[in-house]
Amino acid sequence: MYNSTKNSGGYIANTIVVPMIAVVLVSVVGIFGVMHWSARISDESAAHSQYRLIDGALQLMQNYMVKQQTGVVIWDEAFVEVNDPDPDEGWIFNNMMHWLFQNHGFSKSILVNRDLEVQQAYAQDYTIKWLSEDLLEELTPVVKRVRARYIISFKKTPSGLYSFVPQSSNSRQAIAETGIVALAGDPYLFSAAAVMPQIQSISPIRKPPAVLISLVPLRGEKLKEIAEMSRLQGLVLANLQNTRDGVGRFELLSPQKRSAGVVAWQTNQPGSQMLQRVNPFLALAAFMMAAVVIAVTIFTRQMTKRLARSEAKAVHASRHDALSGLPNRTRFHTLLNDTLRDGIQKDTKTAVVYIDLDHFKDINDTLGHSAGDKVIVAVGERLRRVIPDTGIVARISGDEFAMVIRDSKDDEWLEYILDQVQDEISRPIRIGSRELFASLSLGVAVAPRDGDDPDELLRKADIALYDAKANGRNRRSFFEPTMEHHVQSKDKMSRELRLALKNDELDLAYQPQTDTDAKRIVSVEALARWTKSDGTIVSPAQFIPVAEETGLINDLGLWVLNKACAKAHDWPGVTVSVNVSPNQFKHPRFVEKVMAILAANNLPPQRLELEVTESVFAGRNDSVLQALSRLKNLGVKVALDDFGSGYSSLSYLRRFPFDTLKIDRDFVSDMNGNPEAEAILVSIIQLGKALGMTIVAEGIETAEQIRFLQAHRCHRMQGFFISRPLTDKALGKFLDDFHGANSTGFGTDLSYQPLTAKG
Ligand code: C2E
Ligand code: CA
Ligand code: CA
Repeated sequence: MYNSTKNSGGYIANTIVVPMIAVVLVSVVGIFGVMHWSARISDESAAHSQYRLIDGALQLMQNYMVKQQTGVVIWDEAFVEVNDPDPDEGWIFNNMMHWLFQNHGFSKSILVNRDLEVQQAYAQDYTIKWLSEDLLEELTPVVKRVRARYIISFKKTPSGLYSFVPQSSNSRQAIAETGIVALAGDPYLFSAAAVMPQIQSISPIRKPPAVLISLVPLRGEKLKEIAEMSRLQGLVLANLQNTRDGVGRFELLSPQKRSAGVVAWQTNQPGSQMLQRVNPFLALAAFMMAAVVIAVTIFTRQMTKRLARSEAKAVHASRHDALSGLPNRTRFHTLLNDTLRDGIQKDTKTAVVYIDLDHFKDINDTLGHSAGDKVIVAVGERLRRVIPDTGIVARISGDEFAMVIRDSKDDEWLEYILDQVQDEISRPIRIGSRELFASLSLGVAVAPRDGDDPDELLRKADIALYDAKANGRNRRSFFEPTMEHHVQSKDKMSRELRLALKNDELDLAYQPQTDTDAKRIVSVEALARWTKSDGTIVSPAQFIPVAEETGLINDLGLWVLNKACAKAHDWPGVTVSVNVSPNQFKHPRFVEKVMAILAANNLPPQRLELEVTESVFAGRNDSVLQALSRLKNLGVKVALDDFGSGYSSLSYLRRFPFDTLKIDRDFVSDMNGNPEAEAILVSIIQLGKALGMTIVAEGIETAEQIRFLQAHRCHRMQGFFISRPLTDKALGKFLDDFHGANSTGFGTDLSYQPLTAKG
């Protein structure tokens, strides 16, 4: 399950994180791409407009040349002189060609006559060689176009005279052809215009005109002018082949579309510049996006991990007990099912053990729930530690645990394991500064002997547990079919108990207590007995807890008190001890009722002793202590029962001045030559005496125990060795026999056999 949640976490990571990273990557790349693309577009459009700038500048310059030339070509004198059969070259030189150089810097000129012959050439630096065949060939079509245009545009004006009326509105342009040619590899701007008369002609004869071609080098002044007009940086005439990034190129073409050179400049690339400016920010943005993606990735990973963990936790929680971390009842059932099926397949035995923590209610009541919780945790840990690896330990409810032991070869082996379980639990449990001693009652059912259905096995283990508890705690029982008859459900038992109380099926047994010398019976303890109509005897260890749980204990307790007080008259001088449950004290008028019973039976309060266990201190119930004090003040004796069995704190002895301290029978039975147990016993006797209490040792079963207790001057002694609990009649006889037989000190020689009696 944990794995599958892990995978679902991975699935989430894959379905969310991976596409997200892809989207972010694609958008980053996309943004970069678009930026670069638009930068390039912007660069290109900038280059285009720069190109147009140069083109425009060149046009302007050429137009201006035409205008400068006009003064010389539209001039009657020039028209006459140029077309004269014997032209005055000197005049032409001075007034046209050289004049144009001096005034407008046209460093070269060519005059082509009406017969399309070069009539005269001018070079400012007198070089003759420049007038090459190539150049003439280049210019011939230009000259022809000028002549043709002149002839076409020679029209009759409204005044009846003839004149050159160009079709184009731009007259200067119309009379001239401009362009660029290369002279010895250097580009020159040229303007070619027809030489024409200023005045309108009276003759309609159209003759082709002479054409004056004026040239000016682009290099130098003109280039500077272009640079100024275009405001482009680093404008130069450049090598044709040389192309380079960031360098704009404008190819100068001759009329015949031959390259006349290249104008180059440092392009301004707004896109690239913008990119350069923006790039750091883009990089930063990309970096930040990457950071965000990484953060989100990490975050989602952690979230999915946390999700998987809490999912696993939830699953765990639904199957385990929160306090001990052990599997809970539901989980236990599933595990048991699997184990049993496994056992059947392998043909091996499986043991199911029900465990009940003895006196747990007392721990909770006297030390508080947090101490109780700690005990549960400690017991859980120890159980887990001590059972075989393949076994299962679960917490079923409050103080109930359950175990499954696989392959339990035989009962001896199982007993050995359970011995270990009980030994482990009996080690002291430290709670803060306190050491507690826990014990377990165990009920065992074994598959397939006791069945192979999980529910059936659990029921039988429960019955066995019930049996173990009924036989005194810290015990274990293996299920036996006969047990089933004895065990009843609580409901049924409480119903029957109520009836029994009504139908007088209850009775009292009385167990005598001797003095130190075992010569006199000084007291008897009244113990409830229930013999059902069918003859089965139910132990008070079984029905008293049920009576306490159902509230029946109040009536039952009063009945016992009344009966014990009534019988007390039969045994003058003997104190009657009656067990009282803490619940009875909760009844608001308990003290009055006790007094009423004493009065009704005419029994002095001094003859009655009430036995309470330390659980009366549970919940700091002051009203219980108040009731005890009132009873004590009225003369009733109060005994602390089972001292040392639970989690007794010596402080209880100070909280209430008990008259009597009854040492739990476990201490007496533990004694048998065990120096530690003996030491405890002795110190309890001494302590009780120091507090002025009467010390009673119960559960005495051997002569050695008697001897030991006598040696330490224990005040009163009770146990099977002296007598089992007896019926009232049997007790009367016992008292007679005992006092008769022991008039000379029967108890001291200890030679008698313990008496047995029905009870
Ligand atoms: P308890 O008050 O500790 O009573 C003594 C129990 O120890 C009695 O069991 C008695 O039969 C048994 N016992 C006495 N001597 C020996 C001995 O030498 N060895 C052994 N192994 N056991 C010995 P019983 O009669 O079964 O009573 C069990 C418990 O039931 C009593 O323990 C008491 O807590 C409760 N109980 C009995 N009668 C009443 C009653 O009328 N009212 C209340 N509230 N509780 C009662
Ligand atoms: Ca008792
Ligand atoms: Ca007792």
